[in-house]
Amino acid sequence: MTLSDTPPLSSLLARTRIVLVETSHPGNIGAAARAMKTMGLQQLVLVNPKRFPSAEATARASGADNLLVAARVVESLPEAVADCGLVLSTTARPRYLDLPVTPPRDAASFAAAEAGEAPVAIVFGREQTGLTNEELLCCQRAIRIPTDAGFSSLNLAQAVQICAYEWRLAALAGAASTVGDADVLATAAELAGLVEHAKRTMTRVDFFHPERPKRLPDRLARLVGGAHLRHTEVQILRGFLTAVEEALEEAGESGREVSGR
Ligand code: SAH
Repeated sequence: MTLSDTPPLSSLLARTRIVLVETSHPGNIGAAARAMKTMGLQQLVLVNPKRFPSAEATARASGADNLLVAARVVESLPEAVADCGLVLSTTARPRYLDLPVTPPRDAASFAAAEAGEAPVAIVFGREQTGLTNEELLCCQRAIRIPTDAGFSSLNLAQAVQICAYEWRLAALAGAASTVGDADVLATAAELAGLVEHAKRTMTRVDFFHPERPKRLPDRLARLVGGAHLRHTEVQILRGFLTAVEEALEEAGESGREVSGR
């Protein structure tokens, strides 16, 4: 394969989507589409764009306007990534949540090797404020493009370009997936379902108090997201939680004693 080849559609490029969250400037959406198309990425998802469609976006896409026409517009990040086996945030600066942070090159190799055939999302934040903590918790890893420490914030479309380039290099390197069908990663929706189920069960055994959540929900989401759980592993954990709930129900009012607390 030469450097200008288009890899087969089943490749990393075909199953990777770029998600732009609440982009303010339509020009950035167009420039991001152009950046994607040059590297062979096709799927663009826009979460609540401020202005879209827009003539400015089309102009800045410079021939990549077919990606804009095909772009999916959704209302929330969970909706944009529900079916993804791997969701990667991008961030210009360290955040309190402290997700594992990798440069785009490592993230691309990880996606090629570990995500099987699952859709992969790379999520980009708002021009002014980036991604919220809640949005970061929808993601399993963070990508940071290494920059000068004193000036770390790239233009949105330029950040898309750098990530897309690294994805293309990983695709061209032909990094074969090492993951079998049985090992397919859990989707973002399955992980969110596990976190909610765990919170419900923890509430029933008095371990978690929704009225005083403290940092437990964040830590739980981070723990579940960072574990790269397989579909089957999520099923085991949910089966266990259901068994705990059933045991509590059987124990009736004395159910709280089952928790040993
Ligand atoms: N002031 C914002 C920067 C937003 S820049 C902040 O501090 O978060 C807009 C978006 O471009 C970011 O949300 C991120 O998706 C991407 N971006 C900019 N610089 C980046 C970098 N160095 N590494 C990774 N992504 C970056």
